[in-house]
Amino acid sequence: MSTQAEGLKRRTGPDIADFYDIRSMLSDEERQVQESVGQFVDQEVIPIIGEAFDKHVFPDQLVPELGKLGVFGCNLEGYECAGLNNVVYGLVCQELERGDSGLRSFVSVQGSLCMWPIYTYGTEEQKQRWLPGMAKGELIGCFGLTEPDGGSDPGTMRTKAVRDGDDWIINGAKMWITNGTIADVAIVWADTEEGIRGFLVEKDMPGYTTRDIPRKMSLRASWTSELFFEGVRVPDSNRLPGAKGLAGPLGCLTQARYGITWGAIGAAIACYKEALEFAGYRKLFGRTLAETQTIQLRLADMARRITTAQLLSLQLGRLKDQGTMHHSQVSLAKWNNVRAALDIARDARDLLGAGGVTTDHHAIRHMLNLESVITYEGTETIHQLVIGRELTGHAAF
Ligand SMILES: Cc1cc2nc3c(=O)[nH]c(=O)nc-3n(C[C@H](O)[C@H](O)[C@H](O)COP(=O)(O)OP(=O)(O)OC[C@H]3O[C@@H](n4cnc5c(N)ncnc54)[C@H](O)[C@@H]3O)c2cc1C
Repeated sequence: MSTQAEGLKRRTGPDIADFYDIRSMLSDEERQVQESVGQFVDQEVIPIIGEAFDKHVFPDQLVPELGKLGVFGCNLEGYECAGLNNVVYGLVCQELERGDSGLRSFVSVQGSLCMWPIYTYGTEEQKQRWLPGMAKGELIGCFGLTEPDGGSDPGTMRTKAVRDGDDWIINGAKMWITNGTIADVAIVWADTEEGIRGFLVEKDMPGYTTRDIPRKMSLRASWTSELFFEGVRVPDSNRLPGAKGLAGPLGCLTQARYGITWGAIGAAIACYKEALEFAGYRKLFGRTLAETQTIQLRLADMARRITTAQLLSLQLGRLKDQGTMHHSQVSLAKWNNVRAALDIARDARDLLGAGGVTTDHHAIRHMLNLESVITYEGTETIHQLVIGRELTGHAAF
């Protein structure tokens, strides 16, 4: 079998993975960061990620390197964060997820779900204590919102924090928490007499335990955990004073979902390129797949959907940078881009034939990962309902 994509002729038109020349709309700094993270993914991530996925382990050797690259909380200012704009942060997510959704999830959780709330809702002391170490990847965070009884309706959470003098006593459990077992600090959302509040629960606090969820068929190169709180005593100085009510955790999720809209494009590009290359050398019925009409239709559809997703995310990033982004716009892009990526991954998997069912190819790994990405940070249905509420003024959920 030839492994050269001989059936793909040289083209002089648009870049196959940047059909509308998005690069020309980026600043030099945006392009440079994208390139350096892209190189890191090509050299350090893609060669090892299939095995990490097969073995169901997070490749933690990459964390210090990611810290040196400055990706953790890169859109925050000060506290040893890179202070870059939101388009750069999006491009970082895109490149990382071209490698694997698990790696991008790690960076999203660390930066958007843990560093961002400390930065936005925390005291100066909390920021000094946690942010510089987290920016370097020396300290790891997790974000505990979802509970076993249903993640789409976090307002009905059962985890409770009760005031006891200068402390709070937390009881309850969280489930499906990325990085839970390896985190030095958990941002835990709990119901109190005054409504939902956020607490920094540190890994050695008595009564706080964690355990990984085994047998996942998705995001296998990422730890997903359960958190348990049995009378955990947390000082009031570990409460995030700026977070009041459900708006606290939802604000964090808007940040992370924004990054996911970009990340999904990376996974889609990886699958589309793999399918295109395969179509160039797979010969059936006397011609390559690339020369076959229905295969071209499928590849053209992938290019169309990737291009649409790229334009959505870039404009979303520009809105975010100018401070006018609305959370329903993030919902639309998360729905569109993750749906596009999942459909592309499934189609690429099919186009690869039997070989596509093994992790020797990337498509099935991305496809399985994207089953989590379409569920977490608001399921596809919940994002559709958020947009419906925006259009009609009626909350149907
Ligand atoms: C790998 C992985 C990592 C995760 N990491 C984190 C993390 O770090 N931190 C964290 O807090 N959570 C995390 N999550 C949890 C994730 O956010 C939740 O799984 C998600 O919010 C959905 O909640 P659920 O699984 O309980 O599904 P449910 O809320 O029980 O939903 C079940 C189904 O019902 C549908 N549905 C719900 N409400 C309605 C409605 N009103 N109308 C119509 N349909 C509806 C949903 O769309 C879904 O299809 C993670 C999940 C996964 C899989």
